[in-house]
Amino acid sequence: MKEFWSSRIRGLTPYTPGEQPRERKFIKLNTNENPYPPSPMALSAIRAAADEPLRLYPDPDCTQLREVMAATCGLKPSQVFVGNGSDEVLALCFQAFFDPDRILLFPDVTYSFYPVFAALYGLQYRQVPLDEGFGVPVESFLAPNGGVVLANPNAPTGRALSLCAIRRILEGNPGAVVLVDEAYVDFGAESAVELIDRYPNLVVVQTLSKSRSLAGLRVGFALAQENLIAALNCVKNSFNSYPLDRLALAGAEGALRDPDYFRTTTAQIIATRDRTAARLKTLGFDVCESASNFLFIAHPKAPAKVLLDGLRERGILVRWWDQPRIRNHLRVSVGTQTEMDALYDALSELVR
Ligand code: PMP
Repeated sequence: MKEFWSSRIRGLTPYTPGEQPRERKFIKLNTNENPYPPSPMALSAIRAAADEPLRLYPDPDCTQLREVMAATCGLKPSQVFVGNGSDEVLALCFQAFFDPDRILLFPDVTYSFYPVFAALYGLQYRQVPLDEGFGVPVESFLAPNGGVVLANPNAPTGRALSLCAIRRILEGNPGAVVLVDEAYVDFGAESAVELIDRYPNLVVVQTLSKSRSLAGLRVGFALAQENLIAALNCVKNSFNSYPLDRLALAGAEGALRDPDYFRTTTAQIIATRDRTAARLKTLGFDVCESASNFLFIAHPKAPAKVLLDGLRERGILVRWWDQPRIRNHLRVSVGTQTEMDALYDALSELVR
């Protein structure tokens, strides 16, 4: 019985992100968290902020954080919007940029929240199937649409589009917003941020949850020309005038001010990913080329659900979706080298 539920949400089921276990210690490779701690500069900034000023409201405009982010990306502070994680920023973008009478496009398969946001805000959408190798078929996004949403790299495949492909999509849709979700961009894809000043229809969304190790702090950004940031401010102000609390503001700034730590940990994750991909191939796995902090893998002889359950029994959590196109794939987040060695050992037992 869904009496009193809006017709827009009757078909929805509550989003279930990867399991966050409490009772038992697992090797957690199911939600693409960073295996390394946040930057020491982020942690000391949070500790310093946990003091007397907490009695005061935070800055509703996140002025200082927007300045630091703008300097990090080569933009102006007025081209930066801040939210509680990129999920919130994406939700606000769906509200601010897309209209119910025009059809929104995104790939099938992609981040599972896009159809949910579209349904929540009463938007029509069409999902374009990925090609054989899980690549985004750029040609299918070139006719003018009501908007395009792309994760780059895509999730859960990990495959990246080139900047050249993104430029073609932007030029094919001059009358609609192209929203590029760069949650995983720092692990090997080209960022579209450098295109912002040339394309008034481009919005790039980034997060501190992945490459900056701050999933627990909930900080995300939209980056775009001022006109689009102004639209986001209109939507945001209607329900949340304090996007980040003082601790999140301090930690986010601290992390952005520590590029060396970011570069070192990101390079470590990329190296571990590439080593793991090569080793899994020796076990017979198909490994999708990844520009992210996860691997999308399938074994020709071992059903993914059996591997999922077998890994869980061995104390390792990974991600599986009961969806037609990807039912035989697992998504495995890149952890520390020790964690990936444990994954390799468990999988070699399971596929033997
Ligand atoms: N975009 C993609 C493609 C993701 O996989 C995720 C993480 N689940 C997010 C956005 C949201 O990340 P966050 O809200 O932690 O910034």
